[in-house]
Amino acid sequence: MLLKKDEVPKNEYDVVVIGGGLGGMSVANILAKNGRRVLLLEAHNKLGGLATWFKRSPSNHIFDVSLHGFPYGMVKSLKRYWSNKISQMVVGLDDIRFINPQYSIKTNYTKEDFIKILTTNFDVPLAKVEDFFNHVMSIGTEYDSTKTVGELFESFFPGRSDIVRFLMEPITYANGHLLEDPALSYAIVFANFMRNGIYTIQGGTDQFILKMQEELIKNGVDIKLHSKVKKIAVENKKVQGVFIDLQKIDSQSIKLIKSKVVISNGNIISTVKEMVGEEHFSKEFFKATNNVRLNTSSCQVYIGIKEGENIPSIGDLIFYSDAKTFNTKELLSMNITSRTFSVYYPKTRPGHNRHVVVASTNAKYEDWKNLNADQYLEAKNKMIDSTLDCLEKFIPNVRSKVDHLEAATPLTFERYTSHLNGASFGTKYEGLQISRGLHQQIHGLFHCGSVGIIMSGWLGALNYGAITANDVEAVLFTNS
Ligand SMILES: Cc1cc2nc3c(=O)[nH]c(=O)nc-3n(C[C@H](O)[C@H](O)[C@H](O)COP(=O)(O)OP(=O)(O)OC[C@H]3O[C@@H](n4cnc5c(N)ncnc54)[C@H](O)[C@@H]3O)c2cc1C
Repeated sequence: MLLKKDEVPKNEYDVVVIGGGLGGMSVANILAKNGRRVLLLEAHNKLGGLATWFKRSPSNHIFDVSLHGFPYGMVKSLKRYWSNKISQMVVGLDDIRFINPQYSIKTNYTKEDFIKILTTNFDVPLAKVEDFFNHVMSIGTEYDSTKTVGELFESFFPGRSDIVRFLMEPITYANGHLLEDPALSYAIVFANFMRNGIYTIQGGTDQFILKMQEELIKNGVDIKLHSKVKKIAVENKKVQGVFIDLQKIDSQSIKLIKSKVVISNGNIISTVKEMVGEEHFSKEFFKATNNVRLNTSSCQVYIGIKEGENIPSIGDLIFYSDAKTFNTKELLSMNITSRTFSVYYPKTRPGHNRHVVVASTNAKYEDWKNLNADQYLEAKNKMIDSTLDCLEKFIPNVRSKVDHLEAATPLTFERYTSHLNGASFGTKYEGLQISRGLHQQIHGLFHCGSVGIIMSGWLGALNYGAITANDVEAVLFTNS
């Protein structure tokens, strides 16, 4: 059930999940279906985490924050871990465009189309392209994790910066993946998309998360919103439960909710350092946690088009860049040259006859954090303005058609999700080992949520929920 603001959860559960992102909701749902008594605690006023949306009146817009596209694998995972009804919300996107000084290409982002483009637009012999795909699509977790994406491309397409850009840019836009990062995680994400193209949710994130919430309630999960967990109780290397703050409900204030299993869907570094505490971990583990790098550069501009105004069909996803060549440093700088436009036509939300455009870009957290309040506002306005300048190239006079403009920076993501430094797409590769190693340090403590690129994004986070549910069952319940 969805507990009311003034309702106190039971004293004890089999499992407490901290955070209702896609990973947290999925692990909660699977364990509840297995018959476990599950409490899901979420700090925000709604479930979804980064898979979220917001409404703006009086213009009556709904903006999806992280719904630009995911691989087809979502259909299978939703059927398996959620329901057929939810999986039926998934629909394909077939008009993806790349526009930059090196090329202008339209694609449906499938392997077949990429083979055609690489052989015709980039003049690569078919055998070479097929070799590349055979290699990349067969890379699995056993692959040499020291080999970088840059090395992978160089071995197949030496000196071809245009091809590197074509194969790499969307993945970098999406999750900050760089040429110096492991080829392994790039290959898994890229191959996932190449198997069947890019998909989205018809009806929008709000309808999707609402259906998930209904399913959680149907399966018996207790959900408590507005509940930020500050401390996980640990004694003698064993989880005891979580402390929740009841100050707003009664004078009893801090209460321990007992549980043999606690799963954090929050930021992995905050989980170790703040929610649990250094004293409970081995020195090596804590040191390794301190060395985990976060992806902290997501920025967005939200553009609402006036009711009754039409915009031309300019594609579903447009990877646009003014940069002469692909350069990841430039891509993460505040001097923004590259953006991805997600265009939401009325067909995205049947019954809601509005167009919105969400432009995603990257600019580092530290650069935003170092600004004072006036400078921050100015920088946000500059980002909005330059985004509109860019959009004018596709939609002439777009400024006159707009009735809502707003921007988000890594500071915004930090505020709404408690993610350290506004981390989106979690951590770099090394975060996965920390996440997977938690329960070896503390019996009953697990994590699921965006780490290590592979476990990131809508599909990765959701699947990680399923992996963690299996771990929990295996470790704690098989012998009980
Ligand atoms: C701008 C942007 C665009 C994106 N676009 C895409 C895309 O097109 N396709 C795609 O596949 N992915 C995309 N992503 C990534 C995707 O949204 C995330 O990887 C995924 O949703 C993360 O899920 P998660 O389970 O890790 O949890 P999160 O979404 O990170 O949620 C964690 C939840 O835990 C809660 N929480 C944290 N700490 C506590 C605490 N102490 N107590 C209680 N609750 C707590 C937070 O409030 C939050 O609700 C995008 C991300 C961003 C930021």
